[in-house]
Amino acid sequence: MGGDFYQKKSPDPATDPYLIHYNPSANQLIGLDITPEAMPEFTNIFSGNQALPDSSPLAMAYSGHQFGVYNPRLGDGRGLLISEANVPDGSTWDIYLKGCGPTRFARGFDGRATLRSSIREYLAGEAMHALGIPSTRALGLIGIRDLIFRERPELAAVLVRLSDSHIRFGSFEYFHYSNKSEKIPKLIDHAIHRHFPHIANSNDKYRLFFREIIKNTAVLIAHWQTVGFVHGVMNTDNMLITGATFDYGPFGFLDRFNPGFTANSSDSHGRYSWGKQPEIGHWNLGKLGETLVTVCDSSALEEELSNYQPIYNQTFKALMGKKLGLILLDEEFSTLVGRLFHILSKNPADFTNFFRGLSNFPRGSWENLYDYFPDQKVLDDWLSLYRKLIDREEQDDDQRASEMNRANPKFILRSHLLEHAISKALKESDYTEIDRLFAFAQSPFDELPKCLVGENLDSQFYYADTPQNLIESRLSCSA
Ligand code: AMP
Ligand code: MG
Repeated sequence: MGGDFYQKKSPDPATDPYLIHYNPSANQLIGLDITPEAMPEFTNIFSGNQALPDSSPLAMAYSGHQFGVYNPRLGDGRGLLISEANVPDGSTWDIYLKGCGPTRFARGFDGRATLRSSIREYLAGEAMHALGIPSTRALGLIGIRDLIFRERPELAAVLVRLSDSHIRFGSFEYFHYSNKSEKIPKLIDHAIHRHFPHIANSNDKYRLFFREIIKNTAVLIAHWQTVGFVHGVMNTDNMLITGATFDYGPFGFLDRFNPGFTANSSDSHGRYSWGKQPEIGHWNLGKLGETLVTVCDSSALEEELSNYQPIYNQTFKALMGKKLGLILLDEEFSTLVGRLFHILSKNPADFTNFFRGLSNFPRGSWENLYDYFPDQKVLDDWLSLYRKLIDREEQDDDQRASEMNRANPKFILRSHLLEHAISKALKESDYTEIDRLFAFAQSPFDELPKCLVGENLDSQFYYADTPQNLIESRLSCSA
């Protein structure tokens, strides 16, 4: 792409790196030959202390809209793309180090990442992936002994991120707003070649390119909504054209059904709250569309963008159908969903555990759902409508229940569980809770992860509703 687009730079050396976690499932994506004996070398290479053979690391330039305001100076301030892994199945994965020293885009920041935020990103990628939601993954988490300062001194880490892409909406904005629009077709061609080869020979490839990104984004956000995921920082530089969840910061999951919830304590207006995410997806795509006007007619771009909402609605509805175990997604179904969200918004129900418990209705033991409804009649009224729609279909109750249990997770990565694991890691250098959350995150639909069966552990701690005093906790961007 040329020097306008990146800075070539090696990772900075790290002090006494130590491996905290290695992710064999993520390695299956790229198939590196990593034996236990190779772990010291793995740690050295991916902390930045030893060059990866044949690698030419680079920091990418990008800009973006942050909280609705354009920021021309972003870019990889603390991360480097160190390699692209071409896998036999034809896919390509970027290997990226996050927290490996400042680049020319660092704007005076230290180029490092806190251990705390790296643990969150490490586990989040695995949790989202196992929920069936496109996401970056992480190959490893490496602690380093360089002390860094945020609100206080903090331990640092390097995260080895795998992503199908690092092309952000902000990559296009960077060229568009710095009067380098002539670079945009080149970037699109590169992106098409890598991500959307089926449109490469079309006369309308720029329009189709936008169409693909719109579809990916709408589908991604519909997934987020149905598991109650709140990204927290949906700036255009954190949106990938492939529609994978990207750049985990102050993210969270709904505790109760509160559409206004945002996990980001800096987001005082709730711009990135759960309920706003679909609209923000549209807004961000609009900003991307503006950068494509030199290659595509603006009315065509607008026409494409008008398909966002229908794609989102359709995907959301299909996913809600799976959550409720219903096949017929007609008007009555939409009424059922609307009424459900209404009663959930008025009652203190745990979003995740309510849906998980619902799979036992009507034949199992579902009565503990009443605990969420001070006025039982409210639940009864909704359940009688639900029952009516269940009875319209000829599904077997047991089969519906087992399918619902594959659509409604028993485990989600609640912030207080992460906090617990982080606190053990930071205060006691005890990483066993990270191991455990990793196991839960990888098997969110199981009654208990297979690898934990027989372990002496209080599984309710991981599955229970968020304790009252920790509900809707929020984090700052730097945490
Ligand atoms: P993020 O919040 O991780 O999406 O980062 C937003 C922007 O700030 C990106 O350009 C990052 O590269 C940059 N950035 C965040 N933290 C640091 C840091 N500690 N050192 C250098 N750049 C950073
Ligand atoms: Mg970012």
